[in-house]
Amino acid sequence: LVSRENHPDRSVVRVGGVPIGPGTMTLIAGPCAVETPEQTLAAAQMAQAAGATLLRGGAFKPRTSPYAFQGLGEKGLRILAEVRKETGMPIVTEVVDAHDVELVSSYADMLQVGTRNMQNFALLQAVGGAGKPVMLKRGFNATIEEWLMAAEYVAQRGNLDIVLCERGIRTFEKATRNTLDISAVPVAQRLSHLPVIIDPSHSGGRRDLVLPLTRAAIAVGADGVIIDVHPHPEQALCDGPQALVNGDLRELAKTVRDLPPLV
Ligand code: PEP
Repeated sequence: LVSRENHPDRSVVRVGGVPIGPGTMTLIAGPCAVETPEQTLAAAQMAQAAGATLLRGGAFKPRTSPYAFQGLGEKGLRILAEVRKETGMPIVTEVVDAHDVELVSSYADMLQVGTRNMQNFALLQAVGGAGKPVMLKRGFNATIEEWLMAAEYVAQRGNLDIVLCERGIRTFEKATRNTLDISAVPVAQRLSHLPVIIDPSHSGGRRDLVLPLTRAAIAVGADGVIIDVHPHPEQALCDGPQALVNGDLRELAKTVRDLPPLV
Protein backbone atom coordinates (compact mmCIF):
# COMPACT_ATOMS: atom_id res chain seq x y z
CA LEU A 1 0.00 0.00 0.00
CA VAL A 2 2.81 2.43 0.74
CA SER A 3 5.02 1.23 -2.11
CA ARG A 4 5.59 3.41 -5.13
CA GLU A 5 5.18 0.43 -7.44
CA ASN A 6 1.41 0.74 -7.67
CA HIS A 7 1.36 4.43 -6.84
CA PRO A 8 4.02 6.18 -8.96
CA ASP A 9 3.09 9.74 -7.94
CA ARG A 10 4.39 10.91 -4.59
CA SER A 11 1.59 11.72 -2.12
CA VAL A 12 0.73 14.93 -0.34
CA VAL A 13 -0.57 14.55 3.22
CA ARG A 14 -2.68 17.41 4.60
CA VAL A 15 -2.69 18.15 8.30
CA GLY A 16 -5.47 20.58 9.17
CA GLY A 17 -5.09 21.98 5.66
CA VAL A 18 -1.26 22.23 5.77
CA PRO A 19 0.34 20.17 2.98
CA ILE A 20 3.40 17.94 3.43
CA GLY A 21 4.75 16.34 0.27
CA PRO A 22 6.53 17.00 -3.00
CA GLY A 23 7.33 20.68 -3.45
CA THR A 24 6.82 21.54 0.23
CA MET A 25 9.39 22.16 2.95
CA THR A 26 6.91 22.17 5.80
CA LEU A 27 8.30 23.55 9.02
CA ILE A 28 6.88 21.86 12.11
CA ALA A 29 8.14 23.36 15.36
CA GLY A 30 7.29 23.54 19.02
CA PRO A 31 8.41 22.34 22.41
CA CYS A 32 9.70 18.83 22.92
CA ALA A 33 7.31 18.55 25.86
CA VAL A 34 4.29 20.58 26.87
CA GLU A 35 5.21 21.92 30.32
CA THR A 36 2.94 24.89 31.05
CA PRO A 37 0.38 26.95 29.09
CA GLU A 38 2.78 29.92 29.06
CA GLN A 39 5.79 27.90 27.83
CA THR A 40 3.72 26.19 25.12
CA LEU A 41 2.17 29.42 23.88
CA ALA A 42 5.54 31.20 23.87
CA ALA A 43 7.14 28.33 21.91
CA ALA A 44 4.24 28.27 19.45
CA GLN A 45 4.41 32.02 18.88
CA MET A 46 8.17 31.81 18.28
CA ALA A 47 7.60 28.95 15.86
CA GLN A 48 4.80 30.72 14.02
CA ALA A 49 6.71 34.00 13.76
CA ALA A 50 9.54 32.03 12.13
CA GLY A 51 7.17 30.52 9.55
CA ALA A 52 6.25 27.18 11.11
CA THR A 53 2.79 26.07 10.01
CA LEU A 54 2.32 23.08 12.34
CA LEU A 55 2.87 22.95 16.10
CA ARG A 56 4.63 19.98 17.68
CA GLY A 57 4.50 19.23 21.41
CA GLY A 58 4.56 16.07 23.50
CA ALA A 59 1.96 15.47 26.21
CA PHE A 60 2.90 11.78 26.56
CA LYS A 61 6.69 11.53 26.66
CA PRO A 62 8.40 8.16 26.15
CA ARG A 63 11.58 8.71 28.20
CA THR A 64 14.53 6.37 28.49
CA SER A 65 14.56 6.82 32.27
CA PRO A 66 11.37 6.18 34.23
CA TYR A 67 12.51 8.96 36.60
CA ALA A 68 12.53 11.61 33.83
CA PHE A 69 9.53 13.90 33.16
CA GLN A 70 6.87 11.75 31.50
CA GLY A 71 4.66 14.55 30.19
CA LEU A 72 1.42 16.07 31.43
CA GLY A 73 -0.88 13.56 29.72
CA GLU A 74 -4.39 14.84 29.03
CA LYS A 75 -3.65 18.15 30.75
CA GLY A 76 -0.93 18.65 28.12
CA LEU A 77 -3.39 17.88 25.33
CA ARG A 78 -5.77 20.51 26.71
CA ILE A 79 -2.95 23.06 26.72
CA LEU A 80 -2.16 22.22 23.10
CA ALA A 81 -5.81 22.67 22.14
CA GLU A 82 -5.86 26.09 23.83
CA VAL A 83 -2.69 27.12 21.98
CA ARG A 84 -4.20 25.93 18.70
CA LYS A 85 -7.22 28.15 19.40
CA GLU A 86 -4.90 31.09 20.05
CA THR A 87 -2.54 30.62 17.10
CA GLY A 88 -4.56 28.60 14.58
CA MET A 89 -1.68 26.10 14.27
CA PRO A 90 -2.72 22.45 13.84
CA ILE A 91 -1.19 20.12 16.44
CA VAL A 92 1.20 17.18 16.01
CA THR A 93 1.51 15.14 19.19
CA GLU A 94 2.73 11.69 20.18
CA VAL A 95 0.66 8.75 21.32
CA VAL A 96 2.58 6.00 23.10
CA ASP A 97 -0.15 3.50 23.99
CA ALA A 98 -2.87 1.93 21.85
CA HIS A 99 -5.35 2.54 24.68
CA ASP A 100 -4.76 6.31 24.45
CA VAL A 101 -5.32 6.63 20.70
CA GLU A 102 -8.95 7.69 21.03
CA LEU A 103 -8.11 10.29 23.67
CA VAL A 104 -5.13 11.74 21.80
CA SER A 105 -7.07 11.75 18.51
CA SER A 106 -9.80 13.83 20.11
CA TYR A 107 -7.26 16.68 20.47
CA ALA A 108 -4.59 16.09 17.81
CA ASP A 109 -4.53 17.01 14.12
CA MET A 110 -1.73 14.50 13.51
CA LEU A 111 -0.72 11.50 15.60
CA GLN A 112 2.98 10.93 16.09
CA VAL A 113 4.39 7.45 16.60
CA GLY A 114 7.85 7.76 18.12
CA THR A 115 11.06 5.92 17.40
CA ARG A 116 10.66 3.55 20.36
CA ASN A 117 7.22 2.47 19.18
CA MET A 118 7.85 2.02 15.47
CA GLN A 119 7.26 -1.71 15.76
CA ASN A 120 4.48 -1.55 18.35
CA PHE A 121 2.06 -3.23 15.99
CA ALA A 122 -1.02 -2.84 18.20
CA LEU A 123 -0.34 0.90 18.37
CA LEU A 124 0.24 1.11 14.60
CA GLN A 125 -3.07 -0.60 13.94
CA ALA A 126 -4.88 1.62 16.43
CA VAL A 127 -3.52 4.85 14.90
CA GLY A 128 -4.33 3.45 11.46
CA GLY A 129 -7.97 3.27 12.47
CA ALA A 130 -8.14 6.68 14.15
CA GLY A 131 -8.96 8.75 11.07
CA LYS A 132 -6.09 11.22 11.62
CA PRO A 133 -2.86 11.75 9.65
CA VAL A 134 0.07 9.88 11.20
CA MET A 135 3.73 10.79 11.51
CA LEU A 136 5.75 7.60 11.75
CA LYS A 137 9.26 8.06 13.08
CA ARG A 138 11.88 5.56 12.06
CA GLY A 139 12.96 3.23 14.85
CA PHE A 140 16.53 4.09 15.85
CA ASN A 141 17.47 0.47 15.22
CA ALA A 142 15.21 -0.18 12.24
CA THR A 143 16.10 -0.69 8.61
CA ILE A 144 14.28 1.31 5.96
CA GLU A 145 12.43 -1.83 4.95
CA GLU A 146 11.22 -2.40 8.53
CA TRP A 147 10.13 1.25 8.68
CA LEU A 148 8.09 0.91 5.49
CA MET A 149 6.55 -2.34 6.78
CA ALA A 150 5.53 -0.47 9.94
CA ALA A 151 3.85 2.13 7.69
CA GLU A 152 2.11 -0.74 5.93
CA TYR A 153 0.49 -1.73 9.27
CA VAL A 154 -1.03 1.77 9.50
CA ALA A 155 -2.06 1.77 5.83
CA GLN A 156 -3.73 -1.64 6.14
CA ARG A 157 -6.29 -0.03 8.42
CA GLY A 158 -7.35 2.23 5.57
CA ASN A 159 -5.20 5.23 6.42
CA LEU A 160 -2.74 6.38 3.76
CA ASP A 161 -2.18 9.80 5.34
CA ILE A 162 1.22 8.82 6.69
CA VAL A 163 4.35 10.96 6.83
CA LEU A 164 7.67 9.17 7.40
CA CYS A 165 10.17 10.89 9.70
CA GLU A 166 13.88 10.02 9.70
CA ARG A 167 15.18 10.89 13.18
CA GLY A 168 18.57 9.21 13.35
CA ILE A 169 19.71 5.66 13.93
CA ARG A 170 22.06 4.09 16.46
CA THR A 171 25.61 3.68 15.23
CA PHE A 172 29.02 3.39 16.92
CA GLU A 173 29.37 7.21 16.78
CA LYS A 174 29.01 8.95 20.13
CA ALA A 175 29.46 12.60 19.11
CA THR A 176 25.75 12.87 18.41
CA ARG A 177 22.80 11.18 20.14
CA ASN A 178 22.00 9.26 16.98
CA THR A 179 23.32 9.40 13.43
CA LEU A 180 21.00 11.13 10.98
CA ASP A 181 20.71 8.75 8.05
CA ILE A 182 20.32 11.41 5.40
CA SER A 183 20.35 8.84 2.60
CA ALA A 184 17.14 7.42 4.06
CA VAL A 185 15.27 10.42 2.61
CA PRO A 186 15.82 9.74 -1.10
CA VAL A 187 15.83 5.97 -0.55
CA ALA A 188 12.44 6.02 1.19
CA GLN A 189 11.07 8.47 -1.37
CA ARG A 190 12.06 6.13 -4.17
CA LEU A 191 10.53 3.09 -2.52
CA SER A 192 7.41 4.75 -1.16
CA HIS A 193 5.00 7.45 -2.30
CA LEU A 194 4.71 8.77 1.28
CA PRO A 195 6.24 12.16 2.21
CA VAL A 196 9.52 12.00 4.15
CA ILE A 197 10.64 14.61 6.67
CA ILE A 198 13.55 14.75 9.08
CA ASP A 199 13.94 15.55 12.77
CA PRO A 200 17.33 17.24 13.16
CA SER A 201 16.64 17.98 16.85
CA HIS A 202 16.22 14.42 18.14
CA SER A 203 18.82 12.89 15.81
CA GLY A 204 21.69 15.15 16.81
CA GLY A 205 20.53 16.03 20.32
CA ARG A 206 22.52 19.26 19.92
CA ARG A 207 21.29 22.78 19.11
CA ASP A 208 24.36 23.59 17.00
CA LEU A 209 23.57 20.74 14.60
CA VAL A 210 19.97 21.64 13.89
CA LEU A 211 20.74 24.20 11.18
CA PRO A 212 23.39 22.18 9.28
CA LEU A 213 21.20 19.06 9.38
CA THR A 214 18.24 21.09 8.14
CA ARG A 215 20.35 22.32 5.21
CA ALA A 216 21.21 18.68 4.49
CA ALA A 217 17.51 17.75 4.62
CA ILE A 218 16.67 20.45 2.08
CA ALA A 219 19.56 19.42 -0.15
CA VAL A 220 18.36 15.81 -0.35
CA GLY A 221 14.76 16.82 -1.01
CA ALA A 222 13.05 16.18 2.34
CA ASP A 223 9.42 17.30 2.40
CA GLY A 224 9.75 19.01 5.78
CA VAL A 225 11.53 19.25 9.10
CA ILE A 226 10.31 18.94 12.69
CA ILE A 227 12.20 21.03 15.20
CA ASP A 228 12.23 21.58 18.97
CA VAL A 229 11.96 25.17 20.20
CA HIS A 230 11.71 26.47 23.76
CA PRO A 231 11.49 30.00 25.18
CA HIS A 232 13.96 29.06 27.96
CA PRO A 233 15.87 25.91 26.97
CA GLU A 234 17.97 26.00 30.13
CA GLN A 235 14.77 25.41 32.14
CA ALA A 236 13.30 22.79 29.78
CA LEU A 237 12.05 19.57 31.43
CA CYS A 238 12.97 17.58 28.33
CA ASP A 239 15.81 17.84 25.77
CA GLY A 240 16.75 21.49 26.46
CA PRO A 241 20.22 21.15 24.82
CA GLN A 242 18.65 20.61 21.39
CA ALA A 243 15.94 23.30 21.58
CA LEU A 244 16.30 26.40 19.43
CA VAL A 245 15.64 29.87 20.81
CA ASN A 246 14.50 32.90 18.86
CA GLY A 247 17.68 33.97 17.03
CA ASP A 248 18.63 30.44 15.91
CA LEU A 249 15.08 29.78 14.88
CA ARG A 250 14.90 32.88 12.70
CA GLU A 251 18.11 31.85 10.94
CA LEU A 252 16.77 28.37 10.39
CA ALA A 253 13.49 29.70 9.04
CA LYS A 254 15.38 31.94 6.60
CA THR A 255 17.34 28.90 5.41
CA VAL A 256 14.14 26.96 4.88
CA ARG A 257 12.63 29.88 2.94
CA ASP A 258 15.69 30.67 0.83
CA LEU A 259 16.81 27.23 -0.28
CA PRO A 260 14.35 26.01 -2.91
CA PRO A 261 13.15 22.45 -2.29
CA LEU A 262 13.93 19.78 -4.85
CA VAL A 263 10.83 18.40 -6.49
C1 PEP B 1 9.77 13.50 20.01
O1 PEP B 1 9.69 13.91 18.84
O2 PEP B 1 9.23 14.09 20.97
C2 PEP B 1 10.50 12.26 20.29
C3 PEP B 1 10.51 11.70 21.51
O3 PEP B 1 11.17 11.79 19.23
P1 PEP B 1 11.80 10.35 18.96
O4 PEP B 1 10.67 9.38 19.07
O5 PEP B 1 12.34 10.49 17.58
O6 PEP B 1 12.88 10.14 19.98
